Amino acid sequence: MRLVPKSPGDRTRGVDRVAKKVVIINTEKCKGCYLCVEACPKNILEKGSGALNKSGYSAAMVLSESECIGCIGCALMCPDGAISILEET
Ligand code: SF4
Ligand code: SF4
Repeated sequence: MRLVPKSPGDRTRGVDRVAKKVVIINTEKCKGCYLCVEACPKNILEKGSGALNKSGYSAAMVLSESECIGCIGCALMCPDGAISILEET
């Protein structure tokens, strides 16, 4: 088994709700807009509440990665390309 990045094309092939997902937020790229939080249908992303990154933003956080369905809505919404979704194959 290996983890591969999901891409926009995966959306047209449907969502695999069984395969394990890994949600990676590059906290240094995050600008704290929280569009990803609004976009997530599973409500598993959260506004940052902790330390600020080098640019002074509180990065979004992942609450419950195990509930991610890999829809990549968050990654598509992020204006800064700060989110990557990996899926186990
Ligand atoms: S959409 Fe991107 S920049 Fe905005 S809070 Fe989420 S990860 Fe950060
Ligand atoms: S891929 Fe979909 S379910 Fe997973 S964190 Fe992003 S928006 Fe939420």
